[in-house]
Amino acid sequence: MKRNDDCWCGSGKKYKKCHLDFDERIAEMKFNVNKSQIRPPHHVINIAKDIEGIKKAAVINTGALDLMAKLVKPGIDTLSLNDAAHEFIVSHGAHPSCLNYDNFPKSICISVNNVVCHGIPSKKVILREGDILNIDITTDLDGYFADASRMYIVGGRTTLEAKRLVDVTREIMEAGIRAAQPWHFVGDIGAACGKMARANGYTVVTELGGHGVGKKFHLEPFVSHDCKENTGMLMVPGMVLTVEPMINAGKKQVVTDAYDGWTVRTEDGSLSAQWEKTILITEDGNQVLAS
Ligand SMILES: [Zn+2]
Repeated sequence: MKRNDDCWCGSGKKYKKCHLDFDERIAEMKFNVNKSQIRPPHHVINIAKDIEGIKKAAVINTGALDLMAKLVKPGIDTLSLNDAAHEFIVSHGAHPSCLNYDNFPKSICISVNNVVCHGIPSKKVILREGDILNIDITTDLDGYFADASRMYIVGGRTTLEAKRLVDVTREIMEAGIRAAQPWHFVGDIGAACGKMARANGYTVVTELGGHGVGKKFHLEPFVSHDCKENTGMLMVPGMVLTVEPMINAGKKQVVTDAYDGWTVRTEDGSLSAQWEKTILITEDGNQVLAS
């Protein structure tokens, strides 16, 4: 690309006034292949109009998660929660991204107690007082995706151990977000999450993780929540990714339901929790786009 060409990012500015310095900074960096350090590809970089698009999708996504807080109570089945979230998203002109994604049959994921993630909403799953559950919603609007999940406690009260898992997992997510800094590597996120999980006697699921998001539902980089610092993809301003640690009270091993092909449970039956935000890497840190 020449200095006077239109920049590759789609801003309409000349390359020399837009991403030339950015590209040169990356080109000058030494990448350590032994730490799987890699350069971020251009297609994961978002510009101002992309961020506005993601934020608009996020407003609806946040509304759906807020609605769930009002509806989660003893006796409700998870299909009813799914249907309410679906209706909310569609009525705002958006689309629930999980629906039919890789043949996922429902609009959102609801994962109760020992279910780690990707729980399929069902009439047969009826919430009971003290259950803990994760509701994971992704909304796309005009081609932009916002992804977030939260924990809910049915009836507002649960055991001390379940409450502690829910609260500490949220702190682990926040530690991961604090580690997401421009011109550092994505492995810093997993290093921060893993350290805090272990300090609290918990384990981290490593078969699944976070991901780039924004112009697509799933993009590079893969975001591990338990790995070494200074590994993986370089984080740069304009990158949008999810931080979404899955934390187990028992062992880290998980199994995927052979019958439905989706539901991921802890192998030992222990409780699992997860919180997720979509964040933007900025010039001086990061900004939460969806939570
Ligand atoms: Zn540019």
